[in-house]
Amino acid sequence: MISNILITGGCGFIGSHLVRHFTNKYRKYNIINLDFLTYAANFNNLQDLKQNNYQFIKGDICNRKLVMEIFEKYKINKVIHLAAESHVDRSIKDPILFAKTNVIGTLNLLEAARESWKDSLSNKLFYHISTDEVFGSLGISGQFDENSSYDPHSPYSASKASSDHFVRSYTETYKLPTIISNCSNNYGPNQYPEKLIPLFVNNIIRKKKLPIYGNGENVRDWLHVKDHISAIDTIFHKGELNESYNIGGENEWKNIDLIYQIIKITDRLLNNKLGFSKKLIRFIKDREGHDYRYAINNNKIKKDLGWKPMIEFNNGLEDTIKWYIHRFNS
Ligand code: NAD
Repeated sequence: MISNILITGGCGFIGSHLVRHFTNKYRKYNIINLDFLTYAANFNNLQDLKQNNYQFIKGDICNRKLVMEIFEKYKINKVIHLAAESHVDRSIKDPILFAKTNVIGTLNLLEAARESWKDSLSNKLFYHISTDEVFGSLGISGQFDENSSYDPHSPYSASKASSDHFVRSYTETYKLPTIISNCSNNYGPNQYPEKLIPLFVNNIIRKKKLPIYGNGENVRDWLHVKDHISAIDTIFHKGELNESYNIGGENEWKNIDLIYQIIKITDRLLNNKLGFSKKLIRFIKDREGHDYRYAINNNKIKKDLGWKPMIEFNNGLEDTIKWYIHRFNS
């Protein structure tokens, strides 16, 4: 069965890995990447992709006419929707942009799918990529599962929660075949250097301050981006329609411990004296609405779909740091 898959946000961090993976592995799929090339995108991430099953379109998911034209022209029957504003700090400064891209943009795509799939819903899928941040914050124990209630605390997570709700509402109201996955923090190559790991590696190289929110005790669950891609691949092909899946790395780190680990590896790779860059650490005023802890219960995707994270964190982190050192030095 032919699949014409619209991937949105394919020039961003996760999207670029996904587009590369799908175009290489599934030669029979036609992949259309719609990306507005915001500051977070890097066109060079995919510049070498020459497959004839790949097409790039520069455009805004908020442009309803363009989105509808793409659905019609390319006979889109599957969507994997990643395009979003994704940085919490920016959402605190400009919440309206986040509502526009993450909510209205998602609605435009849902509307285009509803309109263009109205004659038949067979072999159709709208797969929405979301975050564990929609569930809010945990105390020292417990994990988020698929039945956890939504409790977003930042404009970013509120906009993602809203988009998740709209996706579910299209299933309930219009019977649109959808799947949602909610994933924990990703790390790996291709991330814009405002996020923790690339930012800190860059600052260590340039001997710039390493700003840490609050006391650094906040806990995040880290997953290698390639493990996220294998989860998306698994869910796309084997996931149950109208279900949601949580994806996590079973790999919780306090921010401060992760930062010490980044310093240790980066200093070693740069031939600095052990612990040399610790002196760059600065504790700064905590982020407003900073969630204390996220942790994911992976049981559903493991049991129902047979997926599990494969990349061991210390190896994944060292490879990632090597990649950024090479990138920032070249
Ligand atoms: P990113 O910020 O690196 O990339 C986002 C991409 O979307 C960019 O290429 C950007 O140009 C594009 N984009 C933004 N606005 C657009 C618009 N109006 N029209 C078309 N394209 C637009 O983000 P990411 O980290 O790759 O995240 C991708 C998705 O995964 C997001 O939906 C995010 O919420 C979700 N997610 C991310 C993480 C993570 O740790 N990075 C974890 C869980 C879920």
